[in-house]
Amino acid sequence: MEIRIQGVSKHYFSEGKTIKALDDVTLTIPANQIFTLLGPSGCGKTTLLRCIVGLESPDSGEISIGDEVVWSKDKGIYVPTEERGLGMVFQTYAIWPHMNVFDNVAYPLQTRNVPRDVIRRKVEKTLHFVQLEGFEKRPATKLSGGQQQRVALARALVAEPKVILFDEPLSNLDAKLREETRKELRTFLTELSITAVYVTHDRIEALALSDSIAVMRAGRIIEIGSPQKIYFDADHRFVADFIGRANLIPAKVVQQTENATVVESPLGVITCQKRDLAVGATVTLCLRPEFIRVAPGSGEEGANVVQGKVETLVFIGEAFEMEIRAGGELLLAKVDADTRTQVGDTLHFTLDPAHCLLVAV
Ligand code: ATP
Repeated sequence: MEIRIQGVSKHYFSEGKTIKALDDVTLTIPANQIFTLLGPSGCGKTTLLRCIVGLESPDSGEISIGDEVVWSKDKGIYVPTEERGLGMVFQTYAIWPHMNVFDNVAYPLQTRNVPRDVIRRKVEKTLHFVQLEGFEKRPATKLSGGQQQRVALARALVAEPKVILFDEPLSNLDAKLREETRKELRTFLTELSITAVYVTHDRIEALALSDSIAVMRAGRIIEIGSPQKIYFDADHRFVADFIGRANLIPAKVVQQTENATVVESPLGVITCQKRDLAVGATVTLCLRPEFIRVAPGSGEEGANVVQGKVETLVFIGEAFEMEIRAGGELLLAKVDADTRTQVGDTLHFTLDPAHCLLVAV
């Protein structure tokens, strides 16, 4: 079910100051997608989620879920949370320690006076789905973090919501379990074809889990796109920088060819991905560390070849991370683990034009 947010603003007043948590947000979350709100702490992700849920009332604007307007200041509409047809999973799973797994999952149905045999059937089906069959009688406290997370997911799903919302649901898991659980979660959600809105400040989680990502800053949506679009082809410097490690170098457009935009930069003249920019425009060249490659052989001077001196070298298992001084800039590069290089070496590096991204300053 599609969610439409139109012109939503929200201010808080705290200690004599006004905080603009949401600043005229307009956004459509497509049906049956995993849609992530990503951004730094305090950018308004949770506030937007709470407005969709109905735990927070915006100051202005309109929110619709499917065909139903659930909030409109102008039309005086407020549909209470429990009537919005939503499931929710939060950072603290909020599963009840004094109940067993069955009762935790059954709770949302019990509060709606669903007949007992229907409850049993639905709980069993949902526990089967989240692979917790046989755990019905287990006290909630005797579960691992990952299992507790699945109980919370089952409880959010049991009433067959139209939309499911997640606020940093994996934050309390250790790194390995987080990775496993997010893979599992993507499988579950894709299988269900349900609209899922997911809040996180973790870029890897957003990239791994989402169909679409909306990057937020200071109460605004800066850019929306698929994980690949946001990572490889962002329009904004803030987005390119936030979504992954990036070398950001000042540059100036000097030529437009049929397939490429050419810039002048401290690294020399660099041929980049084609962008619709005026010759003379000041831009930022964004280079991901993994696309700075050691030139084969001794490395010849040429197009998109940069000479640099290795200043630091760190072995991280699958690769080396090296800092290179080139044209006065310090670049971070991630190169093959079998590279035979030492600190102090001067090397040539190639920059693939397809991965030389130009973003606004
Ligand atoms: P985080 O990733 O840290 O959870 P977030 O992006 O979810 O951050 P929000 O929780 O939506 O951000 O907060 C947005 C802004 O509104 C922040 O500046 C926050 O301090 C402020 N804020 C949120 N809730 C309240 C409140 N109840 N009273 C006052 N200010 C609030």
